[in-house]
Amino acid sequence: MTQKILQPGEIGQNEPFPSVVLPTDPQLFANRARRFEHLARDGALAPLLRAMSQIAHAQQQAHSSRQAEPVNDALLTASREHAMPPLSFQAERDPAWQKDLDVILAALSQCGEPVLEDAARQLQAIDTDGREAIADAVFGGGIAGGDPELHAVLSPLVGAALQVWWTRQAGSLKADDVPLAGTSTVCPCCGSRPVASVIEMSPSQHSLRYLHCSLCSTQWHMVRVTCSACESTKDIAYYSLNGIEANKPSTKVAFARAEACDNCHSYLKIFTREKEPMMDVQADDLATLTLDMLVDEAGYLRSGPNLLFAPGVPDEE
Ligand SMILES: [Zn+2]
Ligand SMILES: [Zn+2]
Repeated sequence: MTQKILQPGEIGQNEPFPSVVLPTDPQLFANRARRFEHLARDGALAPLLRAMSQIAHAQQQAHSSRQAEPVNDALLTASREHAMPPLSFQAERDPAWQKDLDVILAALSQCGEPVLEDAARQLQAIDTDGREAIADAVFGGGIAGGDPELHAVLSPLVGAALQVWWTRQAGSLKADDVPLAGTSTVCPCCGSRPVASVIEMSPSQHSLRYLHCSLCSTQWHMVRVTCSACESTKDIAYYSLNGIEANKPSTKVAFARAEACDNCHSYLKIFTREKEPMMDVQADDLATLTLDMLVDEAGYLRSGPNLLFAPGVPDEE
């Protein structure tokens, strides 16, 4: 895996590990597709995961189809001066992401999976303004066109295209283009929330916890046993399908756990790569939806999205 690693120095001197890891692996989406296929071998989620592998394959085609757009120098300077994410998802959106959507839709419209083919053709019939409106809903947590069923089908494909555009742009940045913002709860590159976090095992990141951006695939370091939504270090509990677990690293911790915070009542998953070296954060997040259900039932709200999956409309209470 090729990864561009930021040099230490932004937080302090002598920092022995990278604070931010940019997504420079040209095969990121192909690897994800393989992981989805592996996870789809059996189980109740197999059809969903198989469809997701098709989407990730289409994302790889889009990602490899062209180079990143040049990132505006004024934007980079402003971001360096104010420690703001240079590719903020809240800034005006470059319509070029729709080129990636076109590649994804062309691939999926003849992928052999009827649900995906149908969704792709529906999106192909929607004009650019309509697609921007769905993208707004993906970012704003809303329901495009007020139609939850249609949104559930179309928004993962729009999310997939947005991921490709942002991942390619983030991968084209240089180390010092990404200033560390004051908070570690959002991506230093694009300002999005993480999809999950991973306790890593590569030599330079060994045993450290990195949050993975749900949009641009950048990873950034956060100390362990800290809520990734409010940075509280108290009242953190770890849930797995085996029940509540200890927070200290031990051979007994589950591969997938939910880090739940009683300060802000949210949770996000934390994976231990050592247990599944071939894991992919987006794929393994969707393969462990049962854990989400368990933690939802315990009363916690998930704090970061998976853009490939539109959660159901919350029940009216
Ligand atoms: Zn990001
Ligand atoms: Zn919290």
